[in-house]
Amino acid sequence: PRLRDEAQTDGLTRLMNRTLFMELAKALLADAEQQSTDMVFVILDLDHFKRINDTYGHVCGDSALVQVAELLATVTPPEDLVCRFGGEEFALLLNGSRATGAKHLERLRLQLEMSRLNHQGHRIPLRASFGAAASSACGYNLDYLYTCADQALYAAKQLGRNRVGWNDGELQNRLAR
Ligand code: GH3
Ligand code: MG
Ligand code: MG
Repeated sequence: PRLRDEAQTDGLTRLMNRTLFMELAKALLADAEQQSTDMVFVILDLDHFKRINDTYGHVCGDSALVQVAELLATVTPPEDLVCRFGGEEFALLLNGSRATGAKHLERLRLQLEMSRLNHQGHRIPLRASFGAAASSACGYNLDYLYTCADQALYAAKQLGRNRVGWNDGELQNRLAR
């Protein structure tokens, strides 16, 4: 069991890793589709994270990732999923509608904005951009939800970061043009 646990856990943050997340997310999305309930898929990417590494070093960057993971683990309801998706990106799968998800994500964005990372006497601000896609707009296919959320994240970065971007189904065409 320990080997299995280790293989499914991100070594730095102790969140579940991407592989386990994708496996569980697929099952949850299939259930949601069958029961016609809503879900929201989210990618969270830390803003200008490279600057933290460059300014304070990689150890500080690692602490920042751990602190963000702790916040995410604390505020995410137990029936929802949170993982370290890779690098300075995290993914969430939330139960509920776009409206409920929007409230949750805006609160999360604010909590992150208000928090500081304490490092060797510095109080370093952390920010993140979010890309979100609701099943009501983008369906229940995990790969497609990921594509949609990633496009919304890209748009959120373009618009100035530290914000929640939504893909309501039209972004695909607009970006293609
Ligand atoms: P943006 O706002 O556009 O997302 O800018 P960014 O600097 O966050 O994005 P970029 O992709 O340029 O840099 C991501 C950085 O995250 C580069 C990489 O070294 C760092 N990173 C990824 N994984 C880790 C990690 O495990 N620990 C540390 N310390 N840094 C990491
Ligand atoms: Mg990134
Ligand atoms: Mg980033």
